[in-house]
Formats: sequence, C-alpha cells, structure tokens
Amino acid sequence: MATIERKLARLGVPLTEEQLIIATTARTFATWRLAAGAAERDRDGTFPSAEIHALGDLGLLAMKVPSEEGGAGTDNVGYMLAMEAIAETCASTAVVLASSNLAAKILSMHASAAQKARWLRPYVEGKLGPASFALSEPGCGSDAAALTTTARWAGDGWVLSGSKMWITSGAHAGFHLVFARTDGAGAGGISCFVVERGTPGLVVGKEEDKMGQRASGTVALHFDDCRLPHDHLLGERGAGYAIALSALGAGRVGIAALSIGLGEAAFAAGLAHARDRHAFGRPLADFQNTQFVLADCRGELDAAWLLALRAARLLDTGDKAAAETSMAKLFASEAAGRVVDRMVQLHGGMGYSRECIVERLYRDARVTRIYEGTSEVQRLVIARELLRESA
Ligand SMILES: Cc1cc2nc3c(=O)[nH]c(=O)nc-3n(C[C@H](O)[C@H](O)[C@H](O)COP(=O)(O)OP(=O)(O)OC[C@H]3O[C@@H](n4cnc5c(N)ncnc54)[C@H](O)[C@@H]3O)c2cc1C
Repeated sequence: MATIERKLARLGVPLTEEQLIIATTARTFATWRLAAGAAERDRDGTFPSAEIHALGDLGLLAMKVPSEEGGAGTDNVGYMLAMEAIAETCASTAVVLASSNLAAKILSMHASAAQKARWLRPYVEGKLGPASFALSEPGCGSDAAALTTTARWAGDGWVLSGSKMWITSGAHAGFHLVFARTDGAGAGGISCFVVERGTPGLVVGKEEDKMGQRASGTVALHFDDCRLPHDHLLGERGAGYAIALSALGAGRVGIAALSIGLGEAAFAAGLAHARDRHAFGRPLADFQNTQFVLADCRGELDAAWLLALRAARLLDTGDKAAAETSMAKLFASEAAGRVVDRMVQLHGGMGYSRECIVERLYRDARVTRIYEGTSEVQRLVIARELLRESA
C-alpha cells in the first residue's frame, strides 16, 4: 500500500473501509500471486486462468456489483485503487479484470431478475470464470454504431451472424455480452445479447499474437447462425448501444488506473536503477538530467492519478462525468507511454532486454492509448462536452 498511502496522506483523502479492503486485497494478491509468473505469462502468452479464478473467489471479478447481488459492492474509487494495484504487477490480468467487471456491471444494471439468477449469480460465485464484452468488429471499432453483426428474429429465438474482433479473454469467458444489429442502421438498431460459452454456432477464433498484454487472451468471435433463446436479449430491443455506453465511463477510469499502475511499476524500476547504476564514477541519480526525468514522471503520474480520482468520485455521486472520465483515460494512458519510454532510456541497453521489466511495461503500455476508446476518441468526447457546455 506504500504508494497509495503516500498519495492519499498528502491529499488528506480518507478511504472508506470498503475501499481500503478492496485496495489492500488487490495489492496483497498482486504481490503474492501475480508477480512471480507475470514475465513468463507474457513470454508464453499464457492466460492467467488460475489467477483469475482466485480473483473471482476474492470478489474482484465483480467489484462493482452490489453486495445484495453477491458482488464486492465497491465504488469507483475502490475499483480504481484495485486496478492500479493489479496493473502494477500484471497488466494482462488487469485488463481481463477490466472487461469482466465491465460485463458484470452491465448485467447488474440491465438484466432481469431471471437473467441475474441465471448468469450473474453463478458469475459472482466464480463458477463462470471471466466474462467478455464483445462490441468491436473487424470493420469497426471507434465507430461502433456501424457494427454489422446481425441478430435475426426467427419466430422462437434469435440467430446471430457475423464476427467480433479483439475480444479480451474471449476464449476463456463463461459468457459474452454481444452487441448485434436487430433493426435499422445506426445506434438505435443495436441490441445486446448474452451468449454462453459453448453455444452451438459460436466459434472462437485464433488468439492474436500481440505486442503487449500478451496473456490477456484476445480473440475473434465468429457467429455462424448461432441460435439464442428469446430470453438472451439483455434490456430492450434497440437499447444495445445505450447499454454499451452505460458502463464505459467507469471502464475508462479503470483503464486510466491500469495505465497508472503500469507507469508506477516502470517508475519504481527506474528509480532503483538510477540509484544502483554508476557511470563516470557517480550513480545515475546524481546527474541532473536523470533528476529532471524522475521529476517529470512523478508529476505526470500524480496528475494522472488525481484526474482518475476526480472522475471516480464524480461517478460515485451519480454524475456521468463524460469529459472527466475521458480526460482521465487520455492523460493517464499518454502519461504512462511517456513514463515507460523514459524508463527504458534510463536503463540504457538493459532497458531493451527481455530480462528487464521495463521492456515488458513499454510494450504493455502502448495499447492503453488504443482500447476502451482511442486517444483521438477521448479528445472528441472532451471537446464535444466542453463545446456543449459553452454553447
Ligand atoms: C489488446 C486489445 C484488446 C481489446 N479488447 C476489446 C474488448 O474486449 N472488447 C471490444 O469490444 N473491443 C476490444 N478492443 C478493440 C478496441 O476497442 C478498438 O481497437 C478501438 O476502439 C479502436 O478501434 P479500431 O481498432 O477499429 O480502430 P479504428 O476505429 O479503425 O481507428 C483507427 C485510427 O483512426 C482514428 N479515428 C477513428 N475515428 C476517428 C475520428 N472520428 N476522428 C479522429 N480519429 C479517428 C483512431 O483514433 C485510430 O487512431 C481491444 C483492442 C485491443 C488492441
């Protein structure tokens, strides 16, 4: 807890007991269960199945599902602190948590009582493993409302056809939230479906050979006349796009926290290296350029953290915080990119070796500017909000 305690003590921000418990649980788990295997999982691209199962037992797969529904019942601040802690040790595990928690929160917000009994209850009990959120397609990501996967009503149920792409933990998820077109063009023609693992007609594609976050099990999902009973429709027909957006603000805070966790890990490695490594008879930390780099990184990581904290607290008051969640995600992911790059430089040749943690962090950080809304999309959201407010 050293980092979080330092940040909070300086701010005078008190944590609630629930926030402290979830943050401490995540940090302890990360230290004892995630750290040792993170480099090997990255090298082999091995999905952290046992670790995710254990995180499910601890309630971290359903952090924001209310306790009455069997979840951990934490708020967005608690979620942010937990995500930061997990990502400091293993970004792949953190992104699996992010997509699973997103899917669980959507089920909790939009499922009927019967659907919750069928999927949410076993999920929070850890019986379904992780969950996936399947919106992006080969032909569209940023412009998600242009999706072309269809769900056709066949009299007694739905028939899904099409493909999803880049689906985190798609090969391991117990269920997928799949967004498909049931009606006309545009956002209003999209509906959301629950597709269980192993449903006939659901074909899991090959795993992507990614630059970073290599253990997060990213796959394509193909729907080949995949038949679903009528009660697999989540929420109203045509409400799918609004359902997807309903949890994305909170998701962005999660990715901001993930980015900060990555950056903190790189910064800690860089700080230690600056003290240990000598050149020209002095530790690197004695050179003014090293000190400036460390100062810039510290300031940017703290600024990112404060933006994420502001967004999380606004969400916890019921505010949609569209601009603030986008600012947090944009700034934190870009700051993390700058921090990991500087820390590779500070390590010299070692920073370029697979034996050095900053090499993995450098690769892991890059995608945070792409998924859950690219940096450009975040800028569009921020600008749209500020122009709307100033009109
Ligand atoms: C490792 C990984 C995991 C992922 N996990 C998931 C997941 O679990 N579920 C899921 O649904 N998706 C997931 N994604 C998909 C991700 O959300 C998309 O890749 C992302 O939204 C960008 O979409 P795209 O790849 O289609 O790029 P495009 O939308 O084609 O964008 C290409 C470029 O054009 C820019 N651009 C696009 N439109 C505009 C505009 N209007 N103005 C300015 N610039 C623009 C973009 O910012 C980007 O730089 C994942 C992606 C990756 C890489």
